[in-house]
Amino acid sequence: MRQTKFFLKTVKESPADETALNARLLIRAGYIDKLMAGAYSYLPLGLKVLEKIKNVVREEMNRIDAQEILMPALQPKSLWDETGRWEEMKDIMFQFKGRGGSDLGQGATHEEPIFDIMRRRLKSYKDLPVAVYQIQDKFRNEPRAKSGLLRGREFSMKDLYSFHATRDDMLAYYDRVKLSYLTIFERLGLNAIAVEASGGAFSEDYSHEFQVLTPNGEDIIFHCDCGWAQNKEIAKVKEGDKCPSCGAEKIRADKGVEVGNIFKLEQKYSAAMKLSVTDQNGKLTPVYMGCYGLGPSRLMGTLVEIHHDDSGIVWPDSVAPFKAHLLLLSQSTVTKEIADNAYAELQKSGVEVLYDDRPESPGAKLTEADLVGLPVRIIVSDKNNGLLEYKRRSSAEIKKIAIKDLVSEINKI
Ligand code: ATP
Ligand code: MG
Repeated sequence: MRQTKFFLKTVKESPADETALNARLLIRAGYIDKLMAGAYSYLPLGLKVLEKIKNVVREEMNRIDAQEILMPALQPKSLWDETGRWEEMKDIMFQFKGRGGSDLGQGATHEEPIFDIMRRRLKSYKDLPVAVYQIQDKFRNEPRAKSGLLRGREFSMKDLYSFHATRDDMLAYYDRVKLSYLTIFERLGLNAIAVEASGGAFSEDYSHEFQVLTPNGEDIIFHCDCGWAQNKEIAKVKEGDKCPSCGAEKIRADKGVEVGNIFKLEQKYSAAMKLSVTDQNGKLTPVYMGCYGLGPSRLMGTLVEIHHDDSGIVWPDSVAPFKAHLLLLSQSTVTKEIADNAYAELQKSGVEVLYDDRPESPGAKLTEADLVGLPVRIIVSDKNNGLLEYKRRSSAEIKKIAIKDLVSEINKI
């Protein structure tokens, strides 16, 4: 993509009321725009990143036999009354009247609508197991929407729901999802740990949160090198205590961002919503269920919190909007021709490249490229006798290479 044709406008200052590091950097670098607290637009660069995150999530969901669906964000009160959650969630759920006075809400989560779909379709244990997920914007009237993409009032969530004939099958699938989540976070370039947390209203057992440790996180996590970790909300230890799992005296406390949360719902929801199937003996039994959330937009914010330096964002390869930033630093005919050739070569090889062919000053282009943070920077200037200057955003080393070696150099990583 030629930058002269691409809608990318970096801005000098993020809005005065924006205090979150992730949003300030993403706004300045031209990825997102702030509409109001907790509501952001994704501009072309930002949408590319969000879509890459979603696609990694999709690939891993499909790998664990989950199928993608899409439910409406708009929902009737009657469904939520069945579980009592219309009242319970009225502070967090946006609720309002439709035409004719009907009560409507915007989905803060989607257990009720998915159960309604399933109870009209699942009849026998032979219909199970089944797992479906969607990637959709959720709406929550969050009291503190001050953390940029980490806490939106409208935000992207992947929510997966699984339905099983037996508890053992539910538990086995829960473990598969847990592994799948760890794979997703690793692929995205994040080190997330599985942390025991409250099971919520529907299970006495723990749930697992996936936490990325970072000073700007809102949760406090107690954890040990042996892998044991619990959210402070339920933990009965403090910093320096003996680890309840391995016995070593080194429990640490760190702040974390919750990027995913998985729950065993057992049979409680299905009993409330009459989601039953006949078992092998023809007897009606409520199905066992699990629900599993993960936040693509919060992940995008977390990635920026973790991967940046004083000059800007440093995207991991897996989510960068383009792999390479090709910078033309002179307008001389010869140099321009070299840059055009390099661009053609990269395009031919399927390397995603943003070609800064604008007539801006070299200084401005270099500063902006660092801010935008693509993994590879390639400079074409009058100084290099036909060679290109090749640099990784995450390293200081500059290599001079010929166009013919460019693609193999990029593919080394
Ligand atoms: P939190 O405790 O941070 O408010 P939660 O426990 O209410 O989150 P869940 O209902 O478990 O969140 O949602 C599943 C996932 O959706 C979370 O793990 C997170 O990745 C994402 N998520 C939840 N709320 C938000 C939000 N306000 N903005 C962005 N992402 C969110
Ligand atoms: Mg949660």
